[in-house]
Amino acid sequence: MTESIRGAAKRQESEGPARGVVEYDPAPDVAYPVRAIAGLALPGPLHSGHLATASAAAPPISVVDALRRQAIRRSSAAASMNLGNDHDDDSEMEEEEQKQEEEEEASWEGTAEKAGEMLVRWLGEKAGGGTNYTVAVCSGDIYIGKVSGVTKKAALMEELKTYITEKGIEVKWNILLCKSFNTSLGSNHAEMCVLAAIGEKELGKITFFKCTSKSCVYCAETLRHYRVTNSSPVGEAATQVGWAHPFKPIAFGSQMGGDKAAQVAELRAYHADTGAKLTIGKTIGTAPSGRCEKWLSSTS
Ligand SMILES: [Zn+2]
Repeated sequence: MTESIRGAAKRQESEGPARGVVEYDPAPDVAYPVRAIAGLALPGPLHSGHLATASAAAPPISVVDALRRQAIRRSSAAASMNLGNDHDDDSEMEEEEQKQEEEEEASWEGTAEKAGEMLVRWLGEKAGGGTNYTVAVCSGDIYIGKVSGVTKKAALMEELKTYITEKGIEVKWNILLCKSFNTSLGSNHAEMCVLAAIGEKELGKITFFKCTSKSCVYCAETLRHYRVTNSSPVGEAATQVGWAHPFKPIAFGSQMGGDKAAQVAELRAYHADTGAKLTIGKTIGTAPSGRCEKWLSSTS
């Protein structure tokens, strides 16, 4: 490699395409080669070394080709000017969008269900697969549940509060935190905390119900029974040690032994007839009692 080529290549790295060095230029600036080949005087300050490199290395180019390239170059320059104008329009539109976004931040304009969907996604991203959260919308109120219940002091809640208020969701909808409903049992699943908090009579008004993780077979059966559409990730959660019913003093889970499918069949039979005797599932002493606290609202 000669010194001048190396120099040109280096310049290309630092300054972009080098004038006159056609073979290194993916989008050649054809002004100098065209003039040279068309027999026109070369304007300075082109270095003689560069000219030599260009002449030696440039592919043969006909005058017609050269003129055609010039024409293309002119039209692309014109296109660039148009692009410039378009860009100004884009900037104005972007400013307008930015303004709209800022207005949206002050007050959420979407539906409660859309807000619920965003909260599930946020919780899923923050919590990962470790802890299951449920978000539900019932009569326009947004309920948040977590396994064993959730309070405003729980992990992630302060951060979630910032997210919600930035979006202005609480301006339009109340946000309620669902607590555990059966204190005699640790197995208060997120889904059941939400059902218990909403209350059996109100379940028909649920318009959105989704968890960050898959629901277990007992929650799935209970949601089916109460006709709550569950939009949680498809599939079945891992085997659960314990599970408590949101409205009845009964419990299931692998700790009670027996086949999981047989347990679900028994729960299903119990739903159909609450007088049915449980053989695998257990009747527990404490009756469930759903509880929730109003966390965020436009009036709080
Ligand atoms: Zn469950």
